[in-house]
Amino acid sequence: MICFFFPRSASRENPFMLSTMIDAQVDATTRSRMAAIGEKVLAGEKIDRSDGEWLFRLSATADIFDLLAWANRIREHFKGNKIHLCSIVNVKAGGCSENCRFCAQSAAYQTDSPRYGLVDLPPVLKAADEAKSNGVTALGLVAAWKGIEEGPVLDEICSRLEDLKNSGKTRPDASLGIIKNPRVANRLKSAGLECYNHNLESSRQFFPRVCTTHSYEDRVETIQHLKNAGIKICSGGIIGMGETEADRCDLAFALRDLGVHIVPINILNPIEGTPFAQNLPLEPLKILQTIACFRLILPRQEIMIAGGRSVNLRDMQSMIFMAGASALMVGNYLTTLNQPVEKDLQMLKDLGLDPSWDKHGFSDQEETTGCA
Ligand code: SF4
Repeated sequence: MICFFFPRSASRENPFMLSTMIDAQVDATTRSRMAAIGEKVLAGEKIDRSDGEWLFRLSATADIFDLLAWANRIREHFKGNKIHLCSIVNVKAGGCSENCRFCAQSAAYQTDSPRYGLVDLPPVLKAADEAKSNGVTALGLVAAWKGIEEGPVLDEICSRLEDLKNSGKTRPDASLGIIKNPRVANRLKSAGLECYNHNLESSRQFFPRVCTTHSYEDRVETIQHLKNAGIKICSGGIIGMGETEADRCDLAFALRDLGVHIVPINILNPIEGTPFAQNLPLEPLKILQTIACFRLILPRQEIMIAGGRSVNLRDMQSMIFMAGASALMVGNYLTTLNQPVEKDLQMLKDLGLDPSWDKHGFSDQEETTGCA
C-alpha cells in the first residue's frame, strides 16, 4: 500500500484548499473535475478524450500531485500491490535497416552500440536463469531488425522460444519487429509465444518525425496480425522525443482502442550519435504526470516503466508507482544500463509492493477486438 500524505499546510476543514508543501493551492473546480474523472475510472467507466487532454495539460504542481493521488488509488483498485517484472535479452544486435531517430541500433547512425547476429540458445538460457533468480515473470527476446518473415530465421527464433518455454524458467516473450504475414504470427503462437512487444512509439501524427523507413500503419497492422493469432500485446512508446502533450494523449487513446495488454513507457535517454542526442530531458514531474494520465486512460492494463527510468527520474524513481505504474523493466536495457536489480527489489519491498508473481495475470485485463 502506498499512501499519499496530507502536506503540512493542507486544510482538513476545507477539502478544496488541499495544498502541497510549497503552498500551491488546488483550484476547487480543478479538484472536483479530477475527482469526477477518478470516480468514473474506479467505477469501471472509460474517460473521454476531452478529459484525457485536460489531464495531460494540467500544469500546477498541486494539481499534478492530486492527479498522482488518483492514479495511485486506481492502480491499487485494479492491481492491488502486485508488480509485474520483465527483462529483455538482445538476440540480435545493431546494424538495423530502420532509421528510428532515438535508436542506437540503427545502421543509419554512428554509435557505440554492439553488433552481432542471431545468438545461440546458451546466452538466452543464461538470461532466463538470471531473470528467474530475480523473480521476473517474462523474458523478452529482442531483435534489432525491421521485422520477421517466414524462413530459416523464423525457424531459429521459434526453436529458441520452444526451448525457453520447455526450460520452465520464465515466460518467453518476443519483440521481433514488423510482421506482414499472418502466418508468421500463427507460427510464433504455435511455438509457445504468449506476448509480443511492438510499440507504437508515439502518436500517428508525430511518428514520421521518429522514423521514415516504415510507417505507423505498419505497426498497427502488425499488432492486428498478432491479436488475430491470439497473442497478447505489449505496446507503448517513448516520451521526451519532442512530441506534444496532445501526441502523448493520442498514443494513450490509440493503445486503448487497440486493446493492448501491457503498456511500456520509455523515457528518452538521448544516445550520442543519434538525431535525438541533443533532446532536452523531460522534467521528472512531467514524466510522473504522463504515467498517471496513462493509468487513468488505461486503468486495467499493466503500465510498465522501461528504458530511461534511472537517468530521467533519478531520486524520484519510486514515485512511478504512486503515479500508477504496475510493472517494471528490470536488468539492463538494450543499449543502456539500468540500476542494479537488487536496488529495484529493495525499492519494491520498501514500498510494500509485491513482485512475486508466478504467472502473469492477463485475465483481469480488458479484452477488445477492434483496432484503431
Ligand atoms: S527501434 Fe528497432 S526497428 Fe527502429 S532502428 Fe532500432 S532496432 Fe531498428
